[in-house]
Amino acid sequence: MHSLDGKKIVVASHNEGKLREFADLMGPFGFEAKSAKEYGLPEPDETGTTFEENAYIKAFAAAKATGLPALSDDSGLCVDALDGAPGVYTANWAETADGSRDFAMAMQRTEVALQEVGAAEPRQRTGRFVAVICLAFPDGDAEYYRGEAEGTLVWPPRGEIGFGYDPVFLPDGFDKTFGEMSAEEKHGWKPGQPTALSHRARAFQKFARARLGSA
Ligand code: IMP
Repeated sequence: MHSLDGKKIVVASHNEGKLREFADLMGPFGFEAKSAKEYGLPEPDETGTTFEENAYIKAFAAAKATGLPALSDDSGLCVDALDGAPGVYTANWAETADGSRDFAMAMQRTEVALQEVGAAEPRQRTGRFVAVICLAFPDGDAEYYRGEAEGTLVWPPRGEIGFGYDPVFLPDGFDKTFGEMSAEEKHGWKPGQPTALSHRARAFQKFARARLGSA
């Protein structure tokens, strides 16, 4: 098994929201974690049809370009009443005509789709955030860690914290959306703690247990 003893890793993302969360999660482990953006790497096309495939595309591209281990996250929101959409296309639903991303529009688009299928009651509006973290090495070896967070889609959006679809996602067992939670609340995890809340923190917890010696 490849080692991470060099304590240097590339975080294979250009997404500011994800990078902030990875910085929080990696922080306690003493790694130098620079992003693909800081290395000036281009964003590869996400041509896969699964979270795993897209996570590999991003992590391997960064590992190959830098010669370092790379950690990526491919994630999305899967809504039951929409047969799992937007799923791997969650970021695409935010794409505008000029190529930028507009998440207010993406949340609205999800809401319109839910209304079209008549999903008005909370029990008809269930779904989950999924994150697949891929650790890839320059020779192409890779490992995967998946985390999921179950919840309900709310409308209108609530809260200004976080990123992406956070304001419309109410995790099961909580009365605040991810958009109303501090980063600490949304992660719901610290090294050694048995539980985690967000999909990303749950995936990271598995990675930390397997690779960083976390309890
Ligand atoms: P991708 O992994 O680059 O394909 O992008 C996934 C998209 O899913 C992001 O652009 C976000 O819109 C959304 N997403 C993933 N994780 C979260 C999260 O923790 N909160 C809100 N939105 C998220």
